Amino acid sequence: MNTKKQINADHSLSLIEEYVRDKKALRTGFLDNHFNCQLCGSELIYSHVTHFVFEEVVVEAECASCQTQKTAEVHKLQ
Ligand SMILES: [Zn+2]
Repeated sequence: MNTKKQINADHSLSLIEEYVRDKKALRTGFLDNHFNCQLCGSELIYSHVTHFVFEEVVVEAECASCQTQKTAEVHKLQ
């Protein structure tokens, strides 16, 4: 027979397990989106171009399979 304390402990444990599962799913989704083409699933090829005049680095990614380009990211040099 479960006591109220045991039920609360089990509920807390299931919430922690759910949180860990969600974190892993979020991480996996982020990495998949970062490294793979969202159209065909092939690996993206990244290039970094530094513009010292504008003090920024432009990061571009292109799919080798379908040539789709991912939106470029611009990072300011510090
Ligand atoms: Zn592709």
